[in-house]
Amino acid sequence: MRVLIIGAGIGGLALAACLERRGVSDVVLVEQAVKQRGTGAGIQITSNAVHVLEWLSLKDELEKIGHISRGNIYRDIDDGHLVLHAEGGDQVSEMYGNSNYQLNREDLANMLRRRLSKKIQLYSETCVGVRMDGKKAVATLSNGEEIRGDVLIGADGVGSVTRNYISDDGAAQFAGVACWRSLIPGAEAAQIPLDRHSHAWFGKGRSVVAYWVGHGAYLNFVGSVEADEELRSSWRAKGTAQDLRNSFQGVTPIVRDLIEMVRSPFITGIYKHRPLDRYYKDSIAVMGDAAHPMMPYMAAGAGQAIEDSFALAWCLDSADGNIAVALSEYDERRRCRANRVQRASEEMANIYHHGNSVSTIGDTAFRNLVRGTGAGHFRDWLWSYNIVRDMRDRSVD
Ligand SMILES: Cc1cc2nc3c(=O)[nH]c(=O)nc-3n(C[C@H](O)[C@H](O)[C@H](O)COP(=O)(O)OP(=O)(O)OC[C@H]3O[C@@H](n4cnc5c(N)ncnc54)[C@H](O)[C@@H]3O)c2cc1C
Repeated sequence: MRVLIIGAGIGGLALAACLERRGVSDVVLVEQAVKQRGTGAGIQITSNAVHVLEWLSLKDELEKIGHISRGNIYRDIDDGHLVLHAEGGDQVSEMYGNSNYQLNREDLANMLRRRLSKKIQLYSETCVGVRMDGKKAVATLSNGEEIRGDVLIGADGVGSVTRNYISDDGAAQFAGVACWRSLIPGAEAAQIPLDRHSHAWFGKGRSVVAYWVGHGAYLNFVGSVEADEELRSSWRAKGTAQDLRNSFQGVTPIVRDLIEMVRSPFITGIYKHRPLDRYYKDSIAVMGDAAHPMMPYMAAGAGQAIEDSFALAWCLDSADGNIAVALSEYDERRRCRANRVQRASEEMANIYHHGNSVSTIGDTAFRNLVRGTGAGHFRDWLWSYNIVRDMRDRSVD
């Protein structure tokens, strides 16, 4: 079976690694930005996705490039008062079987690249269209070349070309949020008194998240603001430090000091799509942000892409070459959960700064919304899930 994967971001790389681990190595990756590295971003990989990295024998490496998050601290962005301290560290590991990690996004991508063997083919091209030709799935590249496979998986992110084959819902819509990013060198950021929690400050119309990555090599900064003007989605577009400062005037001193340290920030628009009612058509499927792009407020999108990878590799390998059965099972196993995370991330955007910000609803209501109680707690249903165990338990073979 030949598998074509469009996009070698976290999702596409994880899928190639999972396929190889299952013994499927006739895999072709098509990536438009092979040479453009350096996204200037950190990432939190939560326990649910760590189970898959562990299955890929990458947990030791993960521990080398990342560190365990001590938890989440939420404060008001205007006056800095503490709203919620949510436990992390060993407690997460005890409850969910693995910890949450904070790391440099580029280190994560490089770790996945190193996991791939030389058998995996890489095309450094943009895919401009996908279609079926009889039983074969076909990707057309920008140089005019066509490549064929038994199955084609779109891991091509929020602006997915592949998604257009599956759904007629058109282009992703600007979500009215601009996201500033920077990795502040550790030596400089050490002056800011922040420990190894993930720290968030939020209020009406804006929020900031900061956490250490690379064992203290950098402090990852993400600042979100509501924006009327549409901004393109890009991991590499730059904004100016002055515009960043202008967007965060009057914030609590620690956030102001953080922002003062940002010299050359990246900026991206956040885009969204409605949840899909199926993830495949014929022998073409979507995964990761191509299937369920999310607002970044639950730090969950890459984790869902990693879960998709495991499910796809499992289904493709188990279906004995029957692609229709494999993709139908993938859809059944993944769509309900990933769409739920997609919807919850959008609700979290409202809680963070659109309508129900802490300044509007008060600390107690915010704590209840974020943490909830019992099964309503998003950490429970999001972080406790173990797709490796679940698919093994539910498998008949
Ligand atoms: C500011 C911010 C912070 C975030 N923080 C977290 C976090 O802490 N934890 C978390 O789990 N998630 C987080 N996310 C979400 C996470 O980044 C995404 O969900 C994740 O990157 C999705 O991976 P993907 O591989 O599906 O898509 P992408 O990462 O978008 O990768 C798509 C790849 O496909 C390539 N591509 C696109 N189109 C084509 C084409 N036509 N031809 C060839 N190649 C193509 C692109 O170049 C890219 O390499 C965050 C997102 C943002 C914006």
